[in-house]
Amino acid sequence: MAHCGSDNEHDPNARSVAEATTAILAASPPIQDRESLPLYAALDRVLAEDVLAPADVPAWPNSAMDGYALRSEDLGSARRVIGKAFAGHPFAGRVGPGECVRIMTGAVLPEGADAVLIQEQAEIHADMVTPSAPVAAKANVRFAGEDLRQGAIAFLAGTLLRPARLGVLAALGVSEVSVYRRLRVAFFSTGDELRPLGATLGSGQIYDSNRYTLHAMLSRLDCEVFDLGRVADDPAALEAALQQAAGMADMVVTTGGVSVGDADYISGLLQSLGQVNFWKINMKPGRPLAFGQLGAATFFGLPGNPVSMIVTFYQFVRPAILKRMGSQGPWLPPTLRLPLAEALRKKPGRTDFQRGRLLRSETGLQVAGVGAQSSHILSGMAHADCFIVLPAESAGAAAGEWVDVQILEGLV
Ligand code: AMP
Ligand code: MG
Repeated sequence: MAHCGSDNEHDPNARSVAEATTAILAASPPIQDRESLPLYAALDRVLAEDVLAPADVPAWPNSAMDGYALRSEDLGSARRVIGKAFAGHPFAGRVGPGECVRIMTGAVLPEGADAVLIQEQAEIHADMVTPSAPVAAKANVRFAGEDLRQGAIAFLAGTLLRPARLGVLAALGVSEVSVYRRLRVAFFSTGDELRPLGATLGSGQIYDSNRYTLHAMLSRLDCEVFDLGRVADDPAALEAALQQAAGMADMVVTTGGVSVGDADYISGLLQSLGQVNFWKINMKPGRPLAFGQLGAATFFGLPGNPVSMIVTFYQFVRPAILKRMGSQGPWLPPTLRLPLAEALRKKPGRTDFQRGRLLRSETGLQVAGVGAQSSHILSGMAHADCFIVLPAESAGAAAGEWVDVQILEGLV
């Protein structure tokens, strides 16, 4: 059958990446079910409620350094050491004129003191300490509430809980959080040529590599993943798998069978099972994409080509998952502008997601292509740590030119 256009041809019926993204996000409502989890279990979940600071953090003024707590107004003069303040062991008394207290990082600033002289600037003779440099008021002091004030919003609902955020919640004494439940995602691969690992490959057969990549990408996003295996290019089997998937999951993702090839049954089936659109997207790789609704589930039919599958997952599925998980964003991959270390070839027509690698140079960070950019070269994708995004109208980019770069954050 006729090929649906050469790589460099702009298809007037194709929608842009931005149009597709907007439509997908608009049709990806956040789930509502929530559960209460201890902090340890809450990594990568999304907060379902705002968290207010129940107390000031830090709760007391304390020292940022090891040294001597003193009164800054007693300029230049020697002070007598009257006690010690260690983290967890405050000094009970008060620092008067001409006095100071030996203090360690994190110890409560004793009453009367308003600054800490760092020990490197302390001249010590017996129990007398003389600053070798002036000490300004408030020097080396962390103030109560400087990090978070009691009653302030620590995190808004919709915040994805990363390690440092869990740390802040722990610092606030919050031991349990209300989060959205995990998003349930069912997936399967389609294709008569696919064989499981361990099988001996016959002529024309390949291992089902997408299944492993997809499982890993979904797991990284903390989805509850249901692997429905490999499904043959057979309408009855596909229909059964799609129905099973839609009945158990919030989202269904399939790979393969969405182009206009003869064996591509998925499109016909989906019209009867749900409301699914078949889009040509003006991008390379990954032109065909099915998106819509399968019963209550969001459906993505990704191309079977391994690199196309990853690129479309990263551009469309990941944002939809994050939004459905309840995240307030950012949903889209972070983009940097970086200079190219070497020229990249491209023909005008489609937005190109070339696989790239970040390079450190004397002048700063640069980016280069990973070599072969054909959409069946999975090893190039595997060595990439970013996509270099060249706009549809671009006719290639010269060495030194600044380009958009999406950092992959280890997702793929
Ligand atoms: P399709 O989208 O079904 O037309 O497949 C496009 C190309 O991707 C073909 O070369 C397929 O053999 C290959 N392919 C499809 N599914 C997979 C898979 N699960 N793992 C690896 N390659 C695949
Ligand atoms: Mg196929």
